Amino acid sequence: MRIAMVSAHTSPLAPLGGRETGGMNVYVLELSRELARLGYEVDIFTRLDGDLPPVEPVAPGLRLVRLPAGPPAPLEKEEIARHLPEFVRGLRAFACSGPGYDLIHSHYWQSGWAGTILARQLRLPHVVMFHTLGEVKNRARFGEAEPTLRIRHERTIARRATAIVTASDHERQLLERYYGADPARMHTVPCGIDLDLFRPLPRAEARASLGLPLDRPVLLWVGRLEKLKGLEILLDAVAGLERDDALLLIVGGDDRAAPLRAELEAQARALGIAGRVRFTGAVDHAALPRYYSAADVCVVPSFYESFGLVAVEAMACGTPVVASRVGGLVSTVIDGVTGYLIPWRCPEPFAEKLDVLLANPELRANFGRAARASVERFRWSTVGLRIADVYDAARARCAAPGSSAPPAIAPEAWEAAVIASS
Ligand code: UDP
Repeated sequence: MRIAMVSAHTSPLAPLGGRETGGMNVYVLELSRELARLGYEVDIFTRLDGDLPPVEPVAPGLRLVRLPAGPPAPLEKEEIARHLPEFVRGLRAFACSGPGYDLIHSHYWQSGWAGTILARQLRLPHVVMFHTLGEVKNRARFGEAEPTLRIRHERTIARRATAIVTASDHERQLLERYYGADPARMHTVPCGIDLDLFRPLPRAEARASLGLPLDRPVLLWVGRLEKLKGLEILLDAVAGLERDDALLLIVGGDDRAAPLRAELEAQARALGIAGRVRFTGAVDHAALPRYYSAADVCVVPSFYESFGLVAVEAMACGTPVVASRVGGLVSTVIDGVTGYLIPWRCPEPFAEKLDVLLANPELRANFGRAARASVERFRWSTVGLRIADVYDAARARCAAPGSSAPPAIAPEAWEAAVIASS
């Protein structure tokens, strides 16, 4: 079975921890690897954004295909939307010049838009995963507004997809409530984790390798530096801790995140904790187990996470998590067992739970053991098979007598709309 995996706006091979490169990139690459291991032939399609080969073999059965769409240089996500029609034309031509595909699996609304059009033109089942939803980001009220046109597109994509993968039940409910998605077409499959990479390492060695002292508590935050992640809450929480010797490592962020980093550095100075906060910049994914293992607690104070890989990676390394009670984190962190879930997006309750954990090495060790045991359900070999089931269901739905798929849509009108939205 041949899969066209669509990740138009960001390449799964791009360095992680940038403003636009995080969980979705990891997910698309690891899922594709797992599907290739299961015997699928997978081509990942992304936009050409540099002097890079048009077709790059990644693993047996897995290739990355870079399609021209706009200038071959990094572009802002919003700008990419206007080049999507060119991306769709390139993908269609590529598909028609070879053996073709049996199914399209798209990621994020821009690729979902491309997938919806291609599914109609190539008469294929279309499986979509949104990763984030404009409506939900707006409701999280963290100060940045998503355009209404994105939300309108998401609604259309959701209603026309053959199947939707949601990473949590919460995302599934949101899609039904705010987007009118058909519950019968939605499949909740959690994201996978490489449990061989993310495993507990000896703390003392991990700390020594990172130049961290053994006699001070270490808190860790990992991710894309963006407002949605709630880092200012974390800085306020660290300033409000009972003890004043805890170090905070902030891992992630590239040049494009420099303005937010400068804001956070200024906040740390104003709070008098600048000497205890270290910004490491982006760290190679394979090096992260050392960071998670070195930390006493990993903190995820996000306003919203549709899944939140970082929390699961930390738990896989045996590190308890203190996270906001939002989105997918509710289905991964077990409150009072593998960490704590904080229902309020304000610093005091974060500081309170961090104080409890930092004061109790035994409690931390118990949480850490429970955390590692709890993540077995996210092993890729299990998750890959569940996605394969979704593909089977989508193909059966398309093949069923009387199936209305692929649904009627006027691509030209939609092209005009996506261009207008950019
Ligand atoms: N990540 C990384 N290096 C960094 C920062 C982040 O490899 O410097 C990875 C991290 O390990 C995780 C992903 O980026 O796999 C972030 O995923 P998550 O679901 O937590 O957040 P998202 O990016 O989807 O908002």
